[in-house]
Amino acid sequence: MTFSDWGGRLVPFPEDRADHYRASGAWSSDPTGQRLHEIATRFPDRSAVITAEREMSFIELDRRTDQIAAGLIRLGLQRLDPVIFQLTNRLETVLAWYGCVKAGLIPVATLAAHRMHEIGNISRKVGAVAHIVEASLPTFDLVGFAREHAADHPTIRHILTVAGAADGAEPRLEELGLDIPVASARTIVEQTEAQTDPLDVAAFQLSGGTTGVPKVIPRIHAEYWNNALLYARRLGWDEHSRVAHLIPIIHNAGITCGLHAAHSVGACLILATADASSAFELMARARATEVLIGHGHYQAVLSPEFDKARASLSRVVLSGAKVPLELFERVDDGAGHWAGQLFGMSEGLFTVTPPGAPTKARLTTVGTPVAADDEIRILEPGTENELGDGEVGELCCRGPYTIPGYFDAPDHNREAFTSDGFYRTGDLAAITIIDGERYLSIEGRIKDLINRGGEKINAEELELLLLAHPGVANAAVVAMPDPRLGERTCAYLVATDGEPLPLSDIQAHLAQLGVAKFKWPERLEWASSLPHTNVNKVDKKRLRAEIAAKVAAEAEMSHTVV
Ligand code: AMP
Repeated sequence: MTFSDWGGRLVPFPEDRADHYRASGAWSSDPTGQRLHEIATRFPDRSAVITAEREMSFIELDRRTDQIAAGLIRLGLQRLDPVIFQLTNRLETVLAWYGCVKAGLIPVATLAAHRMHEIGNISRKVGAVAHIVEASLPTFDLVGFAREHAADHPTIRHILTVAGAADGAEPRLEELGLDIPVASARTIVEQTEAQTDPLDVAAFQLSGGTTGVPKVIPRIHAEYWNNALLYARRLGWDEHSRVAHLIPIIHNAGITCGLHAAHSVGACLILATADASSAFELMARARATEVLIGHGHYQAVLSPEFDKARASLSRVVLSGAKVPLELFERVDDGAGHWAGQLFGMSEGLFTVTPPGAPTKARLTTVGTPVAADDEIRILEPGTENELGDGEVGELCCRGPYTIPGYFDAPDHNREAFTSDGFYRTGDLAAITIIDGERYLSIEGRIKDLINRGGEKINAEELELLLLAHPGVANAAVVAMPDPRLGERTCAYLVATDGEPLPLSDIQAHLAQLGVAKFKWPERLEWASSLPHTNVNKVDKKRLRAEIAAKVAAEAEMSHTVV
């Protein structure tokens, strides 16, 4: 057991806090893969995963992922090698995740939607050694992409496919380790896990909320599974719970609130896709009792289609944006259906509604932190002055599962943390006291991003990419309200020669730079100049208000015309 600090690129937890988390039980000394194995030993025959096509029990999942881990090791992958993931919500993603974790490899939680701009940067940053891609996407050839990406890459040595052609050149995850006897695979996994230090990185998540290209978030074995277990316990889950998940499983919310949380108590994960209609059908068929609904699905829950999923549900957790009363009441009908809220981030902190909280707290707040050791402070933005209850300020947090620093980002870390190690979330929040309990409410954000149905788009990153177009002299990217996704991206642009360009030109430019499509602006507003505040910054508040008013007026018009 030797903890690797990656040449100083990993920020360790301060010793006194680490000792405290070990003593309080917030941290575990067991490797993440072993935690799954223990659960599989307790609940071997219970369903671990249900998808539209397949169902797998814990014992099958445990054995198959042992074999995949052994197969990955046989390919030559070594402990702590980072592995880029580009997979969607399917059973193989779960197999690949646990297979990597049990082999001591580090899944990198990139998305199937990412392209060269994102994958190229992140894979180099972490020194990725392998790349697992889904071969059957209807709209994009990820295998061809992975080959192109690997061609001049300093560290990538392996490409693996999911749903790849039987005669494909790359190893198929579905076949990995199938010839390794179950007992031998178990021994190989145990030998690997014996080398795991609890401080080792278990997974690299990505941050959406920081400046420039996404920052890498190192989650470690000591805390990652426990974070999920705390979430499951907060909601009162046990092995009889049936947990549906519709949003990308690879996101931190997917891994923590879906995969790990369900499995940490022996519950079944019902892994659906983002298509609400088929997800609700699967939930009904698999009798889901729990679901996390991100704001990209708020509209779908209001639609009659949700009725089919509703019958078996006992708890619905809403997350990502303010919860309108209509939505809350649609879920929480006083007839056995409970609605609560989650506020969470890949960097760590989770707050969730306690099940017994009064209706007002469930409707208007995001609950309380899930760990007894979580510490939160509301600070006056840009300072370390703590504000009083009820005052809106920047939410800052510290705790057993909140990172003490981003990976390899010393300059950014200096700004992102207070002098005593509280993470500055960039979210605006307040403490509200209801019936004597202190609840957190989210009141907006300081950080400059667009939250497109849960996918975060960093404004600065996109502005720099837009400015690389010769026809663009100035750019400001802002969120515009959208009934389905909550927010979409609007770019205010100043043309170099005064001639506006069509949206298709700008999108083609971003495609050429290899930027993921979900980041492309969906609307352009050309202006002769951008408004500035009195401290000479682009006045985004004004632009946001302007586009919101325009969108509302257009919606009103189309209503009238219809
Ligand atoms: P991510 O790391 O992608 O999970 O994004 C975390 C960010 O999503 C937070 O810092 C918030 O800005 C936003 N977020 C998460 N939950 C909520 C919520 N319940 N209400 C408002 N914003 C949220």
